[in-house]
Amino acid sequence: MAKTGQREEPIQALLKEGRKFPPPKEFTKAARVKSPAIYKEAAANPLRFWEKQAKELRWLKPWKKTLEWKLPYAKWFIGGKLNVSDNCLDRHVEGPRRNKAAFIWEGEPGDSRVLTYWDLYREVNRFASALRKHGVKKGDAVTIYMPMIPELPIAMLACARIGAPHSVVFGGFSPESLRDRINDCKSKVVITADGGYRRGGQVALKKNTDEALKGCAFVSSVIVFKRTGQDIDWHRDRDIWWHDFVKDADAYVKPEPFDAEDMLYLLYTSGSTGKPKGIVHTTGGYLTGVSATHRLIFDLREEDVYWCTADIGWVTGHSYIVYGPLANGATGVMYEGTPDFPDKDRFWRIVEKYGVTILYTAPTAIRTFVRWGDEYPKRCNLSSLRLLGTVGEPINPEAWVWYWKVIGGGRCPIVDTWWQTETGQILISPLPGITVCKPGSATFPFPGIEADVVNDKGESVDAGYLVIKRPWPAMLRGIYGDPERYQRQYWSQIKGVYFTGDGAKRDKEGYFWLLGRIDDVMNVSGHRVSTMEVESALVDHPAVAEAAVIGRTHEIKGQAISAFVTIKVGRPQTEELKKEIKEHVAKKIGALARPDDVIYAAELPKTRSGKIMRRLLRDVAEGRALGDTTTLADATVVSDLKQKYEDKEG
Ligand code: ATP
Ligand code: MG
Repeated sequence: MAKTGQREEPIQALLKEGRKFPPPKEFTKAARVKSPAIYKEAAANPLRFWEKQAKELRWLKPWKKTLEWKLPYAKWFIGGKLNVSDNCLDRHVEGPRRNKAAFIWEGEPGDSRVLTYWDLYREVNRFASALRKHGVKKGDAVTIYMPMIPELPIAMLACARIGAPHSVVFGGFSPESLRDRINDCKSKVVITADGGYRRGGQVALKKNTDEALKGCAFVSSVIVFKRTGQDIDWHRDRDIWWHDFVKDADAYVKPEPFDAEDMLYLLYTSGSTGKPKGIVHTTGGYLTGVSATHRLIFDLREEDVYWCTADIGWVTGHSYIVYGPLANGATGVMYEGTPDFPDKDRFWRIVEKYGVTILYTAPTAIRTFVRWGDEYPKRCNLSSLRLLGTVGEPINPEAWVWYWKVIGGGRCPIVDTWWQTETGQILISPLPGITVCKPGSATFPFPGIEADVVNDKGESVDAGYLVIKRPWPAMLRGIYGDPERYQRQYWSQIKGVYFTGDGAKRDKEGYFWLLGRIDDVMNVSGHRVSTMEVESALVDHPAVAEAAVIGRTHEIKGQAISAFVTIKVGRPQTEELKKEIKEHVAKKIGALARPDDVIYAAELPKTRSGKIMRRLLRDVAEGRALGDTTTLADATVVSDLKQKYEDKEG
C-alpha cells in the first residue's frame, strides 16, 4: 500500500485530467435544478429529502415511518402502501397524459409501434387479468425471457399490478443460464416469445426455453408471444400463445395496494466477476429512488423524447426504461436490435427519426462508435439532442470528449452515472444544470446520498474503496435465498457501511473518479494501480479505440501489466505502434504504469451487457483454463486471444 501522509491508501492515483466542462448556459436557464442548494438541503436532512421525493408518487396508504435501519437491513416508508403499475399507468391515464406516447418502439427490421399511456394501460390490465385467472398470485415469481418488444414491459407491469415479483432474464442468455435463474427463484410461469430480431438474424428464444425447461421441474406454463413467426416446437400441455392467453381477460384489474417493502422483482447481476446474484428490490423505496433520479438527473421535461439504449434485461432497463420513466410519465424510445444493423448509423437514424432529446448509453457503445469513425453520426441530424448520459463502466476521458463533441455538438451536458444492480438507482452523477463536469469523473453523490472513499480501516483517503454510508431508498434488500452471501459480500469488508466493490479516488474539489473493480486493481512493484487509469491513458493514444489491462504474475515486480488493445479502423497494427503505445502510457501517467506487453485484440471479451471481463483476460495471460464464461457475450473472442497469447509465448 502506498503511504501518503498518515493513512494507507489502497490504490495509487496516477491520472491527471484537468479539463472542465461547465453546463451550457442555455441549458442551465431552463433546468429543473438550477441551484446547488439542493445538496445542502438534502445533507441537512436526508430523510426529509427522500420523503419529498416519495410524495411525488401516489400512495394508497401513507407511510408511518420513513426509515428503519438495522444493519444490514433497511426498510423504507414503513406501513405505506402503493401499487407500482398504478403509479406508472393509472395516474397518467386519469389526466392529460392519457394519449401521450409512453413507448415509441422500433423493431430491428424497421417496423415500429407507438403505445400511448392508454394503450399500455389496457394491455397491462388484460395481461394482469390473464395471469390472475391462470392462478398467478401475490408473491409468485414469474420469469420473463423476451426480446426488446413492448410486451416485455407489459409483462413486467402486469406482474407488478398483481404483486407477482418478476425475474427478467436477458434474451441473449443461453438455455443453461436461463435454467439456473428459473431454478433459483422457482417460477411456475415463464413468459417468452418465439424469437426476436438481432443483427439481421433471429434469436431462438422459444427453442432456448424448451432446452432450459428440460431441467426445471416446477414450470407448468410457458406463455409465448409471436414476434417472428419462426418454426417452434409446441408442448400442448404447457405452452400457450400470448394472444390466446389474453383472449378472455378482463379489461380492468384493480391495482391492489402493496406494502412498500413487498418484493417488486429480483434480478441477477451481469456477472462480470463471478456467479450472478439474485438481487432483491422492493416497491416503495425503489420507485421513489428511480423516479427521483430519473427526473432530476435527466432533467426531465414533459416534451422530452428519452432514449435509454440498454436492454431491459439489465437493471438499467428496469430502472431507466421501465419504472423511472413511466412513473414520471415520460415518452421513451425502445429499440429491439443492434447498433450496426443494417448499418453502423442505426442509432443516429433513430435519434433523427424520433427527435430524441435525451440519450442514455454505455461507454462500451461509445468506444465502439469511436472505432467505427465519425462518418456514421455525421450522416444524421442530431440537433434534437439536449442531454447525454452514460452508465456501466468508467468512461475514459477521450471517449467522454468524443461523445461531447461529435454526438452532443458541444451543446449537451453529459451525466456519467455510477450505480449498480444492487443500488437500484443512480447514486453518483452530475446534476446537468449545475455541475461542472470533468471527463472521466462521475462527479458527486446524488443529493441525500453519502459516499466515501476509504481504506481497510474505514478511514477516508484520497484513493481506495468506494463505500456508501447511509441507506438509500432503492437499495437492495438482499440476495435471493442467500442472506449469508448478502452479509459477506456487502457488509463485512468495512464495518457499518455498504461496500461497493469498486475503487475510487476523490480529488481536491471533492469529485469522485471511479477506478474500476477492486478485484481488478494491479499490484506493480508494490504500487496498487487501477485498471481505469491505465486504460484511459491507452485510449488517449490516437490509434487506440478500446483497451483492457490486467496484472499477470511477474517474478520480480509481483505483477506485470498486460494491455489488450483494439485499434481504430484503418490503422496498421505494427510492432512499432506497440512501442509507441507503451511510451504513451509512461508519458501520460508514469513509467510505473508502462505496460509490459501490448496485445492487439480485434474484440475484447465482454459480458452480454458490454462490460469488459478482465478476469478472463487474466486467465488468458496466465495460461489457465478459463473461469465461468456463462455471461460472456461471444466465446470466440477469448479463444482467439488465448491462441494469440500462446503463439506469442511459444
Ligand atoms: P457482478 O457484480 O455480477 O460482477 P456487474 O458488477 O458487472 O456484475 P452491474 O450491477 O450491472 O453488474 O454493474 C455495476 C458495476 O458497473 C459497478 O459496480 C461498476 O463497477 C460499473 N459501473 C457502472 N456505472 C459506472 C460508471 N458510471 N462509472 C464507473 N463504473 C461504473
Ligand atoms: Mg457488481
